[in-house]
Amino acid sequence: IFYKMFGKKYFMNHQNEMSVNLLYDWNKLANRKFLLNELQNLRKIREKSLVIVQKVGTGAFGEVFEGKLKLNTKSKESTARVAIKRLRVNANDSEKLDLLKEAIALNSFNHQNLVKFYGVCFPKNSLNKLEIKYIVLEFMNSGDLLSYLRQFRAKKESLEFKKAFKICTDIAAGCRYLERLKFLHRDLAARNCLINVETNNLTVKLADFGLARELYTSHKREYYKQVKDVHKLLPIRWMAPESLSDGVYTTKTDVWSFGIVVWEIITLGYLPYTGMNNLECVDFIINGGTLKAPNYCPMEIRCLLSKCWNKNSAERPSFEDIVKYLMLVEDNSHNFVKFSSIYHYDDIDIIKQ
Ligand code: ADP
Repeated sequence: IFYKMFGKKYFMNHQNEMSVNLLYDWNKLANRKFLLNELQNLRKIREKSLVIVQKVGTGAFGEVFEGKLKLNTKSKESTARVAIKRLRVNANDSEKLDLLKEAIALNSFNHQNLVKFYGVCFPKNSLNKLEIKYIVLEFMNSGDLLSYLRQFRAKKESLEFKKAFKICTDIAAGCRYLERLKFLHRDLAARNCLINVETNNLTVKLADFGLARELYTSHKREYYKQVKDVHKLLPIRWMAPESLSDGVYTTKTDVWSFGIVVWEIITLGYLPYTGMNNLECVDFIINGGTLKAPNYCPMEIRCLLSKCWNKNSAERPSFEDIVKYLMLVEDNSHNFVKFSSIYHYDDIDIIKQ
């Protein structure tokens, strides 16, 4: 897939991790011929088989609706509950291209912890235009993970350790799939995960595949400039020190961000490095600062966090390692399920110097 997408520019660094240079080539994807070809390969959905039910969210580029999709199986007609993402009306070309890139990425994934892609709707008379109207995804009934987590705090409820653990393992499994495909997410954060809750089952899936790539840069100077201009759009608080200082992204920088997501889960959606502004955060992280696991955090998870936040990226575990580790912890978790079934969030001592 990636040779096809990125051509010669695709290469691995010495640790067999995909290098950041690959990602900058998303921009070179503006190669029309290539995109038109990918566009042909996207699963197409006819607009008349979609029914919009209600608006469920507003994203960076447009809106998300709950809807129904008619599925034509040979024997019978059924419908699927879907999420329909569309651009806002006055979207610019680069936003249109971003939606297309998201569809191309999603079209090549198939994993139970990545949001399922049903297909795209094209605007009328759009032949030979690099434009799509809707992206149709499976509907996740509890929305994004960050809002889900914060709800507990708002209601002064607690999240059972077992559930928190399932959320972590689902995300790790999705990340392992991307790692195996040599795909970097680059924007792992609770806000970019979606959650579905059924009576006895909770599933988390990765969404939002590192779209705003041009927001990142390999030069610190430019980075600071960007912080000043569009600081809200940079996921600074989720970024590894080497991404902040050198613009380097590897699977190991995704591992760092995964650690931040685990921290968001156990704090029920605290903002990482609360109390620091973005520039202070950059300074703190580049100079070796990390978040502190709350006191109620089980030793096993505390240990995972410190591994993910190792200053030396080569020493951070891979997602393959993380999934194995979490399975091991799960096997022994009867020791601490009772220990941390209730969390208290009032006095989290957030920063570790
Ligand atoms: P952004 O790209 O800005 O992160 P999105 O446009 O992906 O956000 O989504 C905006 C909001 O819409 C999400 O925070 C979530 O609440 C909701 N949403 C997005 N996708 C789905 C989905 N597949 N199922 C249910 N809700 C969704």
